[in-house]
Amino acid sequence: MDKYRETVRTKKCTGCNSCVNICPVNVISMKEDLEGFNYPIVDVDSCIRCGKCETVCPVLQDEYHYLNDIIKKNAMKIYAAWSKNDDIRRQSTSGGIYSELAASILDNRGYISGAVYDEAHMVRHWITDQREDLEKLRQSKYVQSDMGSIYKNIGDLLNQGKIVLFCGTPCQCEGVFHYCKAQGIETTRLYLIDFICRGSNSPKVYRKFLDELEEKYHSKVSRVWFKNKTFGWNCFSTKIDFENGTCYLEDRFHDTYIRGYIEENLYIRPSCSDCKFKGLRRIADITLADFWGVQLEEAMQETDGGTSMVMVHTEKGKRLWNSIKPKVFWKEKKLEDVIPGNDCFEHSVKPGVHREQFFLDLDNMPVIENIERFLKKRE
Ligand SMILES: Cc1cc2nc3c(=O)[nH]c(=O)nc-3n(C[C@H](O)[C@H](O)[C@H](O)COP(=O)(O)OP(=O)(O)OC[C@H]3O[C@@H](n4cnc5c(N)ncnc54)[C@H](O)[C@@H]3O)c2cc1C
Repeated sequence: MDKYRETVRTKKCTGCNSCVNICPVNVISMKEDLEGFNYPIVDVDSCIRCGKCETVCPVLQDEYHYLNDIIKKNAMKIYAAWSKNDDIRRQSTSGGIYSELAASILDNRGYISGAVYDEAHMVRHWITDQREDLEKLRQSKYVQSDMGSIYKNIGDLLNQGKIVLFCGTPCQCEGVFHYCKAQGIETTRLYLIDFICRGSNSPKVYRKFLDELEEKYHSKVSRVWFKNKTFGWNCFSTKIDFENGTCYLEDRFHDTYIRGYIEENLYIRPSCSDCKFKGLRRIADITLADFWGVQLEEAMQETDGGTSMVMVHTEKGKRLWNSIKPKVFWKEKKLEDVIPGNDCFEHSVKPGVHREQFFLDLDNMPVIENIERFLKKRE
């Protein structure tokens, strides 16, 4: 328990919720801190000190389950790819490869799990076997998702012999893997997909941003769409629709929320600045990402529709990838092609220099004004 509590105290906790799910006496609950991130709280008087929370916490695991990096590097295959279905590709964040992989799982009567918006446009993980739900799972949501009791749902389905595909941040994938392992759940039917991850933003900051836009547009939000492709994939935008028919649409160089995230690192979870799950140290079968800077001579003009980077790590991942190959455009690439355009593959993002001041004033001033005072001036 000491190591576990130290993880929380020093803010190394990723907020993955696996400890809450594994606790056999339900004495762990999540509580939001002043920055808006959830951390576990243990009811110490009722705790039976079984240590299960320590066996699932991704931050506390040794790296014994990782293959030797060199072996992994040699076995790994990398592709630039996109869905041949234009609607799927346009509505997805990069090339729509997640949707094709998920569809393949559904074809085999499996379940798919990923992040969705709830009625209040907050983000949580969800699981379904219904094809019409796939579009809810599609698209990157740039805020930390609440994992709720997804581990238990996944575990129950695997125990029933179902196929499950889980997609989430690298730390969430670790949580799922360690939860299954600690519960003795067979994982041959579990497919883990992670992505190159810049970091998870504070749900409180995101909510305040939406609240202010609702005031400005005199209407409730009806839909949030990050990395919308109205101006193309390279110049992605944030599109927020309102119930009164109005719309906020700003590209990556003008949207305050995305600029505060990617230019100033103002509201990323503290643990994301020292992430253990970078580079090849991944539990996932497949890693997805935006293939920034991709060079494809024969299809140069087409990459701006969205191009995914697909990194296949395991035999299981290879089987899943092979099942969608006829539905996607793909070209094999090398690790050296990925790294220059995606520093987050190997390195954590350091906290922005204004992060502390930003959070000190979070409850004292409008959030858009709070973010914008730290952004470089732009036309
Ligand atoms: C917080 C975050 C940071 C990212 N950082 C980078 C980066 O630095 N570099 C890069 O190349 N790519 C990054 N990505 C991944 C990228 O945006 C695309 O998701 C990826 O390229 C897959 O695209 P797609 O078109 O195949 O699928 P999409 O349709 O975009 O599907 C994305 C999948 O991700 C899951 N997902 C969405 N939001 C979340 C969330 N908040 N938490 C957990 N799971 C979620 C969805 O459930 C879905 O299963 C990030 C994604 C997120 C959510």
